[in-house]
Amino acid sequence: MTRVFALADANNFYASCERVFQPELRGKPTVVLSNNDGCVIARSPEAKAMGIAMGAPFFKLKERADFRCVQVRSANFTLYGDMSRRFMDIIAANTPDMEIYSIDECFIDYTRAGAAAADRARDLRAMILQWTGLSVSFGLGATKTLAKIANRQAKASPDGVFALLDADTRADVLRETDVRDVWGIGKKWANRLQCHDIHNAHDLARVDRQWARNVMGVVGLRTVDELNGLSAVSLEQVTPDKQTLCVSRSFGTTVRDRAELASRLHHFASRAAEKLRQGGLVASAVNVFIKGNTFRPDLPQHANNVTMELSFPTSDTGDIVRATLQGLGRLYRPGIPYKKAGVLMLEVCNAKLAPRSLFAAPDPRRDRLMQTMDSLNAKHGPGTLCYGKIPQPRTWYMTQRHRSPRFTTHWRELPVART
Ligand SMILES: [Mg+2]
Repeated sequence: MTRVFALADANNFYASCERVFQPELRGKPTVVLSNNDGCVIARSPEAKAMGIAMGAPFFKLKERADFRCVQVRSANFTLYGDMSRRFMDIIAANTPDMEIYSIDECFIDYTRAGAAAADRARDLRAMILQWTGLSVSFGLGATKTLAKIANRQAKASPDGVFALLDADTRADVLRETDVRDVWGIGKKWANRLQCHDIHNAHDLARVDRQWARNVMGVVGLRTVDELNGLSAVSLEQVTPDKQTLCVSRSFGTTVRDRAELASRLHHFASRAAEKLRQGGLVASAVNVFIKGNTFRPDLPQHANNVTMELSFPTSDTGDIVRATLQGLGRLYRPGIPYKKAGVLMLEVCNAKLAPRSLFAAPDPRRDRLMQTMDSLNAKHGPGTLCYGKIPQPRTWYMTQRHRSPRFTTHWRELPVART
């Protein structure tokens, strides 16, 4: 049976989320900056047309004479995450077989729709645009790899949908697709393949399978098969409960001091515990990690992580902070300029389903303490009440000088409609 996959990908996702609620940005070159306003992580089509590159450092861009007309926004992941959830929910409600691939991409299995697949995609696209204001492109193909390639065409096509399903279209498009743009190939492999006279996706599709296997391994062979319409990578169903939860930051300036690093990790652990409680979740272990500045190879480097088991599944700030600081004790090396640190909560599950310990009876007083802390912080602002000692003020925290309001998740920041 011929299968039909679609890759749905939101166009210029972060920049588009900004535009949905700030119509004044429409038609104007807009860039979104990374944490700490360091570099460009998203661009509107107008900004792309100006030649602003992905990853361009902000301080450099400011020197450009024509940069004055560019609208700048700090990354607003609260907004992007919520918009992502909204458009993924619409897709999930309309198609049972989908796999979320990234914040703005998902695969859909349209095999059952058969010849009607492209029309179904068109309807879904219109619905997402009307309900969320986001423009999503749909690429259709017999495999996930072909759907990815079709999506590049969809971005350029006026109705945002492109089907790569018949053999002639497929051959034409593969010829136009640089081999480096094939899913899973990348720059390094593309350079090697050039030596074998393989320049575009069509060249790659025509190589001998045995040769592919010997030279590129099983994964490479899979790509070749996928380009020929043989589906080798099927849809991975989404896991309903998230199994991990991460709180981490890159620092504006590096940190060498152990106490300073401890205070930041203390804060991340507290945030992680708070997020667990918000979701009615508990974790069984915490992975603590610290990293040097990999962009500065001239500086002493050190990166390591350690997983600390918690004595029983918990969301208690005290337990998680204690385990995190013990973890830091094992990782820390003096004299290293650390650039990033974080905690990753592992084996996250619903608090009600968590296994109980024989030896540690839950202490209702601790639960009440956590609840009180959360409700005070919700009422009077985050950080009003902290666990243990965190030096104030947190001057090191993210600079987000250009962040727009969290339009969809905070009562005080909701957009106001004026008549
Ligand atoms: Mg996208």
